[in-house]
This record gives sequence, C-alpha cells and structure tokens, in this order.
Amino acid sequence: MSVDEWRQRVRVLPGLLSELEVTKRREDVVSSRRSRASGQSPLVFRLGAAEVMSEIEALLRSVLVTYGLENGRGVVLDSLPRMLVRVGEHASWVDKHKRSGEWSSRLDGLIARGWSVVDTPPDRIRLGVCGAPIAEGEDCPGELWREPDQVVVQCPLCGAVCDVRERMDVALKRASAFRAPLSVVVQVLRSSGVKISHEQARKWTTRTDAHGRRLLSHVAVRSDGTKLYAVGDVLASLGARKRDVS
Ligand SMILES: [Zn+2]
Repeated sequence: MSVDEWRQRVRVLPGLLSELEVTKRREDVVSSRRSRASGQSPLVFRLGAAEVMSEIEALLRSVLVTYGLENGRGVVLDSLPRMLVRVGEHASWVDKHKRSGEWSSRLDGLIARGWSVVDTPPDRIRLGVCGAPIAEGEDCPGELWREPDQVVVQCPLCGAVCDVRERMDVALKRASAFRAPLSVVVQVLRSSGVKISHEQARKWTTRTDAHGRRLLSHVAVRSDGTKLYAVGDVLASLGARKRDVS
C-alpha cells in the first residue's frame, strides 16, 4: 500500500461515480423480456449502481469519522465528492493507518463492482422520436425503441416502419462533434448499441499505428485536466480497427 495508490483511487473515483449516477438514471434500460432471470433485470442494474454508491459513501464516511476521532477534530460529512476530496487530503494519514489495508481492499472491490454495473449494455435502445408526417405540418410523437439485434422497428403510434441502421447512422453523425471524457463517450455509444468496450477505447489512446500516429487522440482538455474525446473520432478508431481485423 502507498500514498500514491490512495491518491490514485481518489483520482479515479469521480469518473466512476458520475457513470454510476448515469446508470442510476438510465431510462433506456427497459427489459422487454419477462422470461429473463431477475438478476438481469434493468431495475437491478440501477439498484446495483445505487448500492455501490452508498457503500462507497459509507466507507469514506467511516474513514473520515476515524480520522476525526483519532485527531480530535470535527469532520464535515456532506456530499460524496467532497468527502472524497477530504480523504485525498488525508491520504498519507489513511495510508499509515492500521486499517489502511482493509479500507483499500474494500474500496478496490467496490470500484470493480461499480464498473461491472456501469458496463452493461441496455436491453432496449431508444431510437428517438418517430417524426413521420401524420398530418399537415404535424409529426408523429411516437417513441421508437429497438432490441439490440433488431433491424427494423415499427412505430407504435402511427405504424411507420423505419430502418434501425439508418436511424443510428443519422443520430451518430449528429453527435460526432460531441466531446466528453472517454468513459462518457464510450457509455453514450454503448447505450446507442455500438459494440465498444472501455478497455478497447483506452488502449487506442496509448497505441500508435504503422506511421506513428496515435490511434485515438483527445480534442481538448477540460480545466480540471480531464481529456475530452470527440464521438466521431472514437467511432473512426472503431471503424479502423474493424478494417484491420477483416
Ligand atoms: Zn410514428
């Protein structure tokens, strides 16, 4: 165990916490198959995300309470992100504490569990509003959803049939300039049905092609130092990888 490892945990946690927050609110995860094992139902994923967050919170709280008691200081236990900052500030105390090993293995377990909850593709994917003309100057407000392997869908309101691939291409093209931290871009793509993993995308940012060009580069850096990637660039890297394989 080292102080650096504690600082590293404090650095990676905000990314995971925001993904868990997204997962908790994910409305595209609607199971349409009743026969599915209850362990796979979307509600369980959302509960899973909430559960991991509350366990992380409880752990940080207990670390800070211990710090307060042993140092005769009052500690403010407010929001999860702020408790995290405080644990980071006391990283060297945390690291030297006799319970450091126990805390770190619990936290690492929660981080791993958190990613496994976040990294779950949806059962049904939202394609957006139908938008087929139904009357003079009026578009159909029907919501279109598809299952991961579905090729065409029919609007439940107006009955219009649409091509899933075409819809997705248009939606992704529209989003191609959207920039966000890599994990968020991957999450967005995954919930749009694109087969891509966090691990895959992270690898592209460190590897170069035969001409020494990076497979995936960030387009901007946020004021807090987080690198931002464009949706279009991530998709282009995915396309290039597929061509390499075939
Ligand atoms: Zn419609």
